[in-house]
Amino acid sequence: MRPILYLVIPCYNEEEVLPETHKRLKEKFTTLMKEQKISSKSRVLFCNDGSKDQTWNLITNYHQEDNLFSGLKLSRNRGHQNVLLAGLMYAKDKADIAISMDADLQDDINVIDAMLAEYQKGKDVVYGVRSSRTKDTFFKRFTAQGFYRLMKSLGVDIVYNHADCRLLSKRSLQALAEFQEVNLFLRGIVPLIGFDSSIVYYERNERFAGTSKYPLKKMLSFAFDGITSFSIKPLRLILSTGVLIIFISIVIMLYTLITKIMGNPIDSTHLLIISIWFIGGLQMLSIGIVGEYIGKIYHETKRRPRYIVEEIID
Ligand code: UDP
Ligand code: MG
Repeated sequence: MRPILYLVIPCYNEEEVLPETHKRLKEKFTTLMKEQKISSKSRVLFCNDGSKDQTWNLITNYHQEDNLFSGLKLSRNRGHQNVLLAGLMYAKDKADIAISMDADLQDDINVIDAMLAEYQKGKDVVYGVRSSRTKDTFFKRFTAQGFYRLMKSLGVDIVYNHADCRLLSKRSLQALAEFQEVNLFLRGIVPLIGFDSSIVYYERNERFAGTSKYPLKKMLSFAFDGITSFSIKPLRLILSTGVLIIFISIVIMLYTLITKIMGNPIDSTHLLIISIWFIGGLQMLSIGIVGEYIGKIYHETKRRPRYIVEEIID
């Protein structure tokens, strides 16, 4: 049996790249179908994340021309992770497998063949991993690598250099649906599903048109979300810092006491001011981190829908 494949592609203001993406995927899917690797019911599902440009119009046109192309439209911009989830959850009921990939095709589309081969070997999750980042800017490479290291050191189980290019089988999509959290970080959740997985490598290319939809601000908040939704180590850090500071203050106390006993005068005002400022700053930082977690609890308890699908053309 040839599996039905849904290729889920989040699109946010991608009018510049979509024509090329559309062309390349059309070719790719035609070959895959000819080679009998996928069912003719397979689809390219463009998921519009509240784009302000012509993206949705392009998608509807593609759908009218050819029913290989489907579209899903969120009611407004909800971010990459949410729109991706919306697409995957739609694919869950329609497809045997879903592969997610960015609209700019920075991830080599030939990775689809490799992923399908792994699926045929019985893998439920196949992670696409970048074999090199030579085409990324130094800044992107540096920040991304720092992020993976930090996550690892905080005990979050994520696949190194794997972004959101992955294959999920029907049952792993169903398992993913069980995760109800609002602060969604798919890279952290997918390894928690636990089914048999494997990795395929590909070259990461440059964006061929348009600009990155992930400016520094979004990137930082993505990283911060990833950490605070998965790790309580920052809380532990507060505790150990507290212990360390108490220890230091005891040492200073003993030092002051000994100087006094030995009959030497001490000017403690400077020491006092420094310590007050230091502790004050530290307390504020700690409260800030605790607040971050309380913020998470707050969002989770509200149980707001993570996305609202406005329209589906399939
Ligand atoms: N994207 C999205 N919603 C957003 C931001 C980005 O759906 O709010 C999509 C975007 O259209 C693209 C993918 O997420 O398909 C990755 O974005 P981009 O290529 O700009 O990120 P980069 O490759 O620079 O990290
Ligand atoms: Mg990109």
